[in-house]
Amino acid sequence: MSVNLLQTPIEYLKGVGPQRGELLRKELGIHRYEDLLNFYPNRYIDRTRYYQIKELNNNPAEVQIIGKVVHLKTVEFGKGKKRLVAVFTDNTGQLELNWFQGHKWIRDSLKLNTPYVIFGKVTNFNGQYSMAHPEMELYQEHQQSLRSSMQPVYPSTETLTNRGVSNRVINKMMQQVFLETQGLFVETLPQNLLEELKMIPKSAALFNIHFPKSPELLAKAQFRLKFEELFFIQLQLITKNLVRKHKIKGHPFTVVGEHFNNFYKNHLPFELTNAQKKVLKEIRNDMGTNAQMNRLLQGDVGSGKTIVALMAMLIALDNGFQSCLMAPTEILANQHFNGLTELAKGLNINIKLLTGSTKTAERKIIHEELENGSLHIIIGTHALLEDKVQFHNLGLAIIDEQHRFGVEQRSKLWQKNEIPPHILVMTATPIPRTLAMSLYGDLDISVIDELPPGRKPIQTVHRYDSNRLKVWKFIKDEIAKGRQIYIVYPLIQESETMDYKDLMDGYESISRDFPLPHYSISMVHGKMKPADKDAEMKRFAEGKTNIMIATTVIEVGVNVPNASVMIIESAERFGLSQLHQLRGRVGRGAEQSYCILMTSFKLSNDSKIRLETMCKTNDGFEIAEVDLKLRGPGDIMGKQQSGVLNLQIADLVKDKEILLLARHEAMKLLKKDPSMSLPEHQTLRSVYIELTKKKNIWNYIS
Ligand code: ADP
Ligand code: MG
Repeated sequence: MSVNLLQTPIEYLKGVGPQRGELLRKELGIHRYEDLLNFYPNRYIDRTRYYQIKELNNNPAEVQIIGKVVHLKTVEFGKGKKRLVAVFTDNTGQLELNWFQGHKWIRDSLKLNTPYVIFGKVTNFNGQYSMAHPEMELYQEHQQSLRSSMQPVYPSTETLTNRGVSNRVINKMMQQVFLETQGLFVETLPQNLLEELKMIPKSAALFNIHFPKSPELLAKAQFRLKFEELFFIQLQLITKNLVRKHKIKGHPFTVVGEHFNNFYKNHLPFELTNAQKKVLKEIRNDMGTNAQMNRLLQGDVGSGKTIVALMAMLIALDNGFQSCLMAPTEILANQHFNGLTELAKGLNINIKLLTGSTKTAERKIIHEELENGSLHIIIGTHALLEDKVQFHNLGLAIIDEQHRFGVEQRSKLWQKNEIPPHILVMTATPIPRTLAMSLYGDLDISVIDELPPGRKPIQTVHRYDSNRLKVWKFIKDEIAKGRQIYIVYPLIQESETMDYKDLMDGYESISRDFPLPHYSISMVHGKMKPADKDAEMKRFAEGKTNIMIATTVIEVGVNVPNASVMIIESAERFGLSQLHQLRGRVGRGAEQSYCILMTSFKLSNDSKIRLETMCKTNDGFEIAEVDLKLRGPGDIMGKQQSGVLNLQIADLVKDKEILLLARHEAMKLLKKDPSMSLPEHQTLRSVYIELTKKKNIWNYIS
């Protein structure tokens, strides 16, 4: 069938018309026949079974009943609110049908005392069964329609339901599309791939996704369509990566010279772990070619990313280039600056810090030195992105904790020079491989999957608030051994005032339980001035205080090796990745460290899973996988990037295996035919081009 027919505007489909067409466009993004075809059910229900009203017993699933409406009335509830109530009976009992909207439409179209098949969820209130906004079909029509034990249920919206575009209506439209197109659709995947993976053809897949003939065929249809979706995404990502490697020039760092070697031979404070060595090699290889590096460095908290960053920057310097390292917060930028200055002392290189609080005079010097090239390495916050900051020759840009920076910011750095700098994005939030593959397919990925030797795994326990006395006793013992303690309170923006009160109450009661002069306490929170925050952090870092009470401002990067206990208050209110980040503040020294998750007794199921996961494992990747399952990918990556994950049918969590397969096949195909120009790939290529035009969502940097 011709492609053009599929491009027909949806209002021309029989039974749609301008008004419904508008609705479909607005509510579901369905503009053309093609969009309707690709609008997939999100589940299937058994419509071969009919219930009798007397059989209803708190059945939570949806049921189908045959009966008649014998009475219709409007009932007021609350001020000005009305609901339309119908009494529905079969021979065995009666049931209330309720509508809260769309009354006129119902009144006009509903026939009294005529057999209907109703479908919906039944609720039981004080022994009275009712169904809200049921799907209704005249029994006579119902008998003529196709029924299968797997009837598709399409996603819907309130507006659609109120305007009478029910599931049944969508189903009818779908039948109409198949009728008009004769159900014949262009095959989008190469024949040999279909054979190799025993996939059903496109036409069969589309038919069975909408009108499953059997559970087996439905499964095949789902597999085929999921594979296809993921396969084309992978083709795009891999192609983009290949193009970048071939076309986007970078500065070739051909030498590993004096600075690097001097550091490696004379100033390395410890032996690098194998993982650090491996990653460093990957970075060196990337920067050594004349393609631009675009690499994501994943490493759990404490895995030692900082020294890798420094060594990469030394290579840049050996090749006559400047580097910058950008961190999301001032505290972190400060820490990086201190850490790197310490590591690089004796190297005789010029490293400076630029943040929002850098004084004007110092700032001027920095701007000058950056422009004349005498400043080798600049560490900073967003301040680095200002237009005034111009480099002599920026060769390497390192971004720490990437998920806090948006795409635009990355590209801003990119634009600072004619030939873009190599980019290294460092993150301590492990992203599950599947997600990384879909999101960052255009980045190469390095992983530090090993912690420096001698670290003892942090012991994590969950305690209820009622056990606080025991916990306090434990803290006192640890302090007596010379250790330091973090106590963290949640800070959630919507209830900032309440959280602030929690924090202050906590501070007061802890001050009472750990009184001066025996104990001393620091506190940092978001409402403090940066200078005060830093001063408090510094007191704690220098061991002048025993306890640090904080909100999550300490989440990222803070390094106090002598701190061995992390207490997280109201731990049920934190997300998994945040809990893991917070825990990563301890276990940085040689001592056994502990993380204590304090909660009330009231815990949701998800909270329980989060707490259990934390107690069970220290592995950031394992935790990230659980997090992905609990929250779904959109949430994890934040709004900004979640658009990327607008998948039609595949699910990154559930369809991991298919994703891996799709990636594997896409690579294989592109290896054989990088430009998709072989005759057998002609359709593939045109579909690919169409898709790329439409979903131009892979532009992170370019
Ligand atoms: P992160 O990956 O969280 O940024 P850091 O780079 O801050 O980790 O390193 C955490 C701590 O581990 C630092 O105190 C650092 O000096 C130390 N460290 C890093 N690499 C090694 C190593 N190979 N051997 C021993 N200690 C190391
Ligand atoms: Mg770090």
